Amino acid sequence: MNPTPDTWQLAAAHGWWFVQRGREILLGGDGGIPRGVCPLADLDALPVLQVGELDGLPCYAVDLPPAAPFGGFFGEPRKLLDSLPARGRGALARALEVLEWDRAHRFCGACGAPTVPRSGAIVRHCSNEACRREHFPRVSPVVIVAVERGDEILLGRSPHFPPGVYSVLAGFVDAGESAEDAAHREIFEETALSIRDLRYFASQPWPFPHSLMLGFQATYAGGDIVCAPGEIEDAAFFRVDRLPATFRFRQTLSSWLIRDFCRRHGHDFPDRG
Ligand SMILES: [Zn+2]
Repeated sequence: MNPTPDTWQLAAAHGWWFVQRGREILLGGDGGIPRGVCPLADLDALPVLQVGELDGLPCYAVDLPPAAPFGGFFGEPRKLLDSLPARGRGALARALEVLEWDRAHRFCGACGAPTVPRSGAIVRHCSNEACRREHFPRVSPVVIVAVERGDEILLGRSPHFPPGVYSVLAGFVDAGESAEDAAHREIFEETALSIRDLRYFASQPWPFPHSLMLGFQATYAGGDIVCAPGEIEDAAFFRVDRLPATFRFRQTLSSWLIRDFCRRHGHDFPDRG
């Protein structure tokens, strides 16, 4: 059974420790996720959530207050994407998303009363007897689409990207919309292009803060590129042997899409380390 936060004793636990402080997480001596006895055992009892298992050990998630007197090494979680195995990335995503949900659902969105966690499940329920609404973590689906035209791929950059960096285009799925409709709409809104032959490729949890990326491949169907003002600074079709700079992380869905495109056209994905 999962521990109830207010009865939890940190010192007794043994597992993987996903300790978040602000936007950073605690790193172990090897630069990965700390494993073993609780690295926070010297602190007074903190709320701890059990968020599944990894390699047979429980995963614990802790939201460390900024003022907590703890001097460990912290780092940006997305920098771990390339060093963790796939199952570790999944555990990290779950821990971060559950912590974000737990922070953001202390009060009921329907009636405003405080919520309380339920032991043994990732759910908070409303303390108002007349309401009793249950609040579960939610994910926000995002479509990310690699549009191809022969040996070219459509890449764009938004104004907040680092200088010179391009990526495949992406956008949130609207309420009541299918992922397929969202893919057609996003590409049209961002570039005025139409696409065809939409094919599902892969998905990836993206816990910044709680997205699920749904990757598609598609074929250019028509139109001339017109970038959406304020959203897309530049977009173009790039030949497989003349790709621009892309984000350096390799274990992301955008990298997988670009790498798959390169592989099918006989080119190595440029490693930008
Ligand atoms: Zn309520």
